Amino acid sequence: MRLIDADELVAFLHRKGGCDAPKDSWADGWDTAINETIAHVLLMQTKEAEHVKHGEWVYGENDIPHCSECGKEPKEISQYCPHCGANMEVD
Ligand SMILES: [Zn+2]
Repeated sequence: MRLIDADELVAFLHRKGGCDAPKDSWADGWDTAINETIAHVLLMQTKEAEHVKHGEWVYGENDIPHCSECGKEPKEISQYCPHCGANMEVD
């Protein structure tokens, strides 16, 4: 899931629609779609954002990497720690 700023999205949609086009014109259909989208966004449930944990792979003795957040060793290096989900600074 990707969290976004719903208020910013609604403001953007208001800028794109609402031109009071003549009924049954193409632009009227555009306005209707924009208004329905705004209504849907406003009714959507708000979710709590979880803190994104950041970490890095730390190479200890024997050159075996472990997570800086949970200390566990991964089977392979990846963008996220498979044990605690920390987002690693992988290029
Ligand atoms: Zn971890």
